Amino acid sequence: MVKNLKIAIQCCECHRVKDGAVWHEEPHRDDVAYSHGYCPTCMRNALIRFGLESNMVNQALAMAQ
Ligand SMILES: [Zn+2]
Repeated sequence: MVKNLKIAIQCCECHRVKDGAVWHEEPHRDDVAYSHGYCPTCMRNALIRFGLESNMVNQALAMAQ
C-alpha cells in the first residue's frame, strides 16, 4: 500500500488533470491515483456526440455547476 496517495481526476479524453478549478496537462505520477471523468471541454463534446443539441448541452452544464 502506498502512503499519502493523492487522488486526482483525469479527463479520459484529453488526459488533462484537474487541479482545483483548472485542468492542465501533467505527466503521469506514480503517487497519484487517477479517477477518470470529463473536463468541461470534453464533457461538452461528449454530450453533443450523444446527440444533445447545443442549447440542451448549455442547460445541462449550467445545472451541473
Ligand atoms: Zn478533456
